[in-house]
Amino acid sequence: MLSWLLKLPPFAYRAPESLEEGLELLAAGDGEARVLAGGQSLIPMLALRLARPSLLVDLRRVPGLAEVKEDGAGLRIGALTTELVAERDPLVRARSPLLLEALDFIGHPAIRSRGTVVGSLCHADPAAELPAAALVLGAELTARSLGRGSRTIPARDFFLGPFTTALEFDEVVTEVRVPAAPPAEGTCFLEVSRRPGDFAMVGVAAAVTREGDRVVDLRLALTGVGDRPRLLTLDELGLEGRASSEGLFSEAGRSVGARLRPPEDLHASATYRRHLSTVLTERALRTAFGRADIRGGAAGA
Ligand SMILES: Cc1cc2nc3c(=O)[nH]c(=O)nc-3n(C[C@H](O)[C@H](O)[C@H](O)COP(=O)(O)OP(=O)(O)OC[C@H]3O[C@@H](n4cnc5c(N)ncnc54)[C@H](O)[C@@H]3O)c2cc1C
Repeated sequence: MLSWLLKLPPFAYRAPESLEEGLELLAAGDGEARVLAGGQSLIPMLALRLARPSLLVDLRRVPGLAEVKEDGAGLRIGALTTELVAERDPLVRARSPLLLEALDFIGHPAIRSRGTVVGSLCHADPAAELPAAALVLGAELTARSLGRGSRTIPARDFFLGPFTTALEFDEVVTEVRVPAAPPAEGTCFLEVSRRPGDFAMVGVAAAVTREGDRVVDLRLALTGVGDRPRLLTLDELGLEGRASSEGLFSEAGRSVGARLRPPEDLHASATYRRHLSTVLTERALRTAFGRADIRGGAAGA
């Protein structure tokens, strides 16, 4: 009965050989053209009639977008870097344990072998792992358009709502930059899903910077509990001045649980999501704190 839904609606398809050509196509599309990266989210959206672009601009032939590089400021992950390539990349493995942990929770290897890191950020699914990790890591996206050139969008300004970002219709994200971790920072990504590979009912990305037993900085973002992930800090949790780690993580968990209004659906009730948020927040912060202690630097996994 639903078989007609699985057939894609008609659209034109172009695979430009250069970024400039792609940007021209997007600009000429006047909001009716969409970028196609790994297609792991966009193609299902088309099949379900949740998106009806008249033109898909496939980036796969654009050179230079599939690289992971490092410069003085941190990692630069190109727009066509798949989640699986990122997960196996020696730079990502060495420099960004939080990203690595988050990547491992995404679907299955077959999905990750096509889905891109940048595509996941641009898709902005409120239950996705990478937007939360990008917020905690202080990532920045580089967006290019034909007329306005390049601009940098911090992750904290990028996610505006469910499947909605700060990107304009004629912009392509060319890379995401992940700053080098500050010294003595530990990180942790935890989530609970019904089955391995499912989207999380609740996920927590956490980073803690410590000096001995003191918490110097704390950053958190949750997934699956609202219309988008939001960055939470000591101040926002009402825990500023509470530098000692004693009792801090359980208080942070309670504070997160109290402030959330999570959605209710067939996967989990709002009460259960709130409970998970409390427990996972405390656990992720405690683990991140412990990891910073063990490695004494940019540790995480
Ligand atoms: C069975 C299944 C299970 C999954 N499980 C999970 C999961 O557990 N967790 C999770 O987070 N995700 C999951 N995903 C989604 C997966 O991670 C996607 O790959 C990812 O969300 C989108 O990446 P993509 O490269 O496939 O993007 P596409 O599907 O090609 O694009 C997604 C959106 O981003 C836009 N876009 C992509 N790249 C750019 C760019 N460079 N510039 C501007 N706009 C761009 C597109 O126009 C589109 O709107 C799952 C997918 C499937 C099919």
